[in-house]
Amino acid sequence: MEANSDHRRFFELLDEADPLSGMRARFDLSHTRIFFNGNSLGPPPRGTWERLRAVIQDEWRNDMNAAWWDNDWLNLPRVTGDRIGRLIGAAPGQVVVGDSTSVNLFKLLCGALQVASRRSSGRSVVLTDSDNFPSDLYIADGIAQHVHPHATVRRVAADSIVDHLGDDVAVVLLSHVDYRSGRLLPMRDITESAHAAGALVLWDLAHSAGVVPIDADDIGIDLAVGCGYKYLNGGPGAPGYMYVASRLLPDFAQPITGWLGHAAPFDFEPDYRPDPGIARLTTGCPPLLSLIALDEGVAVTAQADPHAVRAKSIALAEQFAGLVRRRLARFGVEMTGPAAAAERGSHVSLRYPSAARLAAGLSARGFDVELRPPDLLRFGLAPLYIRYVDVYDCVEAMEQFLAADLVDAEVATTDTAAEGDLRR
Ligand SMILES: *Cc1c(COP(=O)(O)O)cnc(C)c1O
Repeated sequence: MEANSDHRRFFELLDEADPLSGMRARFDLSHTRIFFNGNSLGPPPRGTWERLRAVIQDEWRNDMNAAWWDNDWLNLPRVTGDRIGRLIGAAPGQVVVGDSTSVNLFKLLCGALQVASRRSSGRSVVLTDSDNFPSDLYIADGIAQHVHPHATVRRVAADSIVDHLGDDVAVVLLSHVDYRSGRLLPMRDITESAHAAGALVLWDLAHSAGVVPIDADDIGIDLAVGCGYKYLNGGPGAPGYMYVASRLLPDFAQPITGWLGHAAPFDFEPDYRPDPGIARLTTGCPPLLSLIALDEGVAVTAQADPHAVRAKSIALAEQFAGLVRRRLARFGVEMTGPAAAAERGSHVSLRYPSAARLAAGLSARGFDVELRPPDLLRFGLAPLYIRYVDVYDCVEAMEQFLAADLVDAEVATTDTAAEGDLRR
């Protein structure tokens, strides 16, 4: 079969043998485009239509304010949190859905700095990857500027994080999968090194939860945040979530102390007392409709075996890499990021000098990919709905576009050369 791996039929056979092929039908992909940017915004699960319709009609319209209690809406941040917990290897009571990932990160990072300073007054450094997602860097800098004036943010290359674990490090803040390169950091090794050096670790799971198996409790990570609208398919602006290990929770405080994080919100006490459990991480009313959509996205994701998801994610990337090597290298297109599948998350990037033109060419042929200027194209290979033939068709579309572009460029060069004499 390997000999035929440049034929579309080979990819059709891979789809036929795919244990996850049934998952695709759970998504509404009734448009004609192929989504390679599901790692930015996953497509709507079919069930989301019905869930939202029912919530608006049967619960919101009919029950009105009582709906908060009658339908357990107030507990949903914890209920959905526990569902997300199952995806990331966290026992119940340690994950809660909150606000956007950025706001959630603000809360956990403030709390982490406080835990660290209680342990040792000299620990005030947030150690992070200089290539971390900008919002994560901005939030860390904002805390150092406005909230914890003694804290400093130290940005170093991800490869050298463990070399910078001095006794002044309070918390290591890292993205599990790099949003640009797709590099997957060794969560267990880094967590163990950080703990050995006396630091806490806060992982951003935005590009890994739902596609890379995570063993939060087993590894013993301290804190994590993650995103609801990427591989969890929670819809545009879906809230993110927070994980706080149960051993830290009793003393963990966060600074946005709103009423729904209170131990008894409906007693309306004048002073704040945190909820004894994970609800202390919450602040105000949850964005209920978005939370319902997230709950549905998480439920769909949870139907797939995480190890089958990881295996398909790797296989899609390997097939993609092979096709790019064989068919696109001659045009100067190259794969970037880690070469080893075990060191990648579920997206890959191609480097090409005229990336914007190539992206436009793909878009005109029905493929949605993400441009990361100046020269990168990012492809999210979401195993629940991307097929092997999608990968094949996409590379073929790039090959056709680039071949035509090359002819155009040659014609243009010849024309310019011919006209050149006249102009000079
Ligand atoms: C997508 C993403 C976020 C999202 O942040 P929001 O506050 O939800 O907009 C945060 N961190 C990383 C690493 C991301 O990739």
